[in-house]
Amino acid sequence: MAGGYAMIGSNLSRRERAADARAIGTEGKRWIRSWINVFRCETEARIPQDEAALQRLVCEGRYSCVGQSHSYNGVQVVPGVTAMLMREGGLKTLTYDPGSETVRVGASVSVRELKLFLRDGHGRGLLNSGNYMEQSVIGALATGTHGFGPRAVMADSVVELTFLDGAGQRVTLRRGDPDFAHVALSFGTIAPIVELVLETKPLESYVSVSSMSRLSKLAELKQGAIAANWAVMPYTDPEDPVIMLHALAECDKGVEPTAHPEAKGGGGHFAKWFLKHYYNFDRFLPWFRRPMQRFIDWLDLKQSERVVTDPQDLDYLYDPKPGLKENRAPSITRGLFSTTYTGYNLAFFVPLEKAPAVVKFIIREADALRDLGFYLKGIISVRELPGTAGPVFAANARQPMAAIDLFADPRDYAWLERLQRLVMHYEPDTRPHFGKSALGPDFRAALNGDGQNHLEQLMDIYERHFPQGNLMFSERVRAMLDVGQPLAGESAADAGLA
Ligand SMILES: Cc1cc2nc3c(=O)[nH]c(=O)nc-3n(C[C@H](O)[C@H](O)[C@H](O)COP(=O)(O)OP(=O)(O)OC[C@H]3O[C@@H](n4cnc5c(N)ncnc54)[C@H](O)[C@@H]3O)c2cc1C
Repeated sequence: MAGGYAMIGSNLSRRERAADARAIGTEGKRWIRSWINVFRCETEARIPQDEAALQRLVCEGRYSCVGQSHSYNGVQVVPGVTAMLMREGGLKTLTYDPGSETVRVGASVSVRELKLFLRDGHGRGLLNSGNYMEQSVIGALATGTHGFGPRAVMADSVVELTFLDGAGQRVTLRRGDPDFAHVALSFGTIAPIVELVLETKPLESYVSVSSMSRLSKLAELKQGAIAANWAVMPYTDPEDPVIMLHALAECDKGVEPTAHPEAKGGGGHFAKWFLKHYYNFDRFLPWFRRPMQRFIDWLDLKQSERVVTDPQDLDYLYDPKPGLKENRAPSITRGLFSTTYTGYNLAFFVPLEKAPAVVKFIIREADALRDLGFYLKGIISVRELPGTAGPVFAANARQPMAAIDLFADPRDYAWLERLQRLVMHYEPDTRPHFGKSALGPDFRAALNGDGQNHLEQLMDIYERHFPQGNLMFSERVRAMLDVGQPLAGESAADAGLA
């Protein structure tokens, strides 16, 4: 569906959902909702049918840009200004250049459309990607969307980008230009970006090994892997929790991650049946989660699955079996990520070698909140980002990092913000996911921490290209950038607080 906000939140009423569906493709007053509907506002919407229309629109008054509006943290929700609904618009450029092996992509194109275009037309793929394909390519790149393994942050593959400045004029920056590294991943502060040029790679197979084991076995199990993604069950043994590791190795390299030779542990057929149905229980009986995870802990299962991925498979990073996970019944590996559709997801990045300790810390802190009625959803997900990336706001701009994803019931999202803050107290190098962290001034030190004031440099670029001040960003982004008060007309301002 082109640019609609389908599946935006399981907590919307049927009437709201129907109204949102009817609004797709229309201009005027519309609700802009974050995924799971935790942040939202009703505002004027415009749908740019082409670049000329967009050029006129940006000169008309205050605006912000919205992609597919899938960010959890409301970075795309700016009350009181015109929302440019880029994904619903007509900026559909998609061209492949075989000479440079790069693809040019417009602001209305989704990740799925881009992947299909590259695979079916050119036998190519993206260097990396997140686990969902409906987002706009440019929206995804703007928030630092990542997968895991080499070149994990998608924006690291941008070689050229074009945006419209405050007068509606095209500005093109290329890798190596002085401002490029700041603008390539700039969370909506330089917008609208109308086109990007991205590196691509050939389609290839990987050896994928999924194992159920313990955190203490992580290093051993991922030996030989080029990419690792592990999910921890937070209510198993806090000293050595149960993990599910998904490791990828290059084919034909002779080294593969270790696979447990065969499933073992207590429970036999019952254990297998239990695991198969665990995610359904977990979803529908959340209060049962802790005893069920303790039971899994007691079973002490070791499971392993080895698959050689199909080079044509668009989602091999998250579902190694051929074909798309959306067309298949749930399995253990798929179950790992079902939380994305039912819970609020808050994420941040910590230095890679600290990830096991940070996860254990979160497990203890979350367990201590049980008597207040707070439960994490079934897994804490950790994706490893080895190597470093070019854009200065990329999570791993300075050192290898691990992305930690926490999930909770939508009404509990503020507890996740508290856990984020606690981790930040102890680990000052914690960096934000611009679409999933609780953004705010407390991230300034980590983003500027290499002796340069990158946020100020970004605002200098903004002021140079948008002297009219029409382009606006969300309250929390403004607080993080230290650029301002709420907008007149917003509720806090109406209450006389501004
Ligand atoms: C189900 C689900 C799965 C996810 N999986 C992952 C994952 O695996 N890894 C990961 O890292 N993240 C993941 N995310 C987060 C998601 O990738 C990001 O939040 C992403 O930004 C969403 O893209 P969007 O098109 O919806 O952008 P929006 O949320 O609409 O916008 C995000 C930002 O981009 C800006 N923007 C949008 N279009 C433009 C433009 N044309 N020019 C300039 N700025 C623009 C907006 O102003 C805003 O600041 C997931 C989210 C969901 C809901």
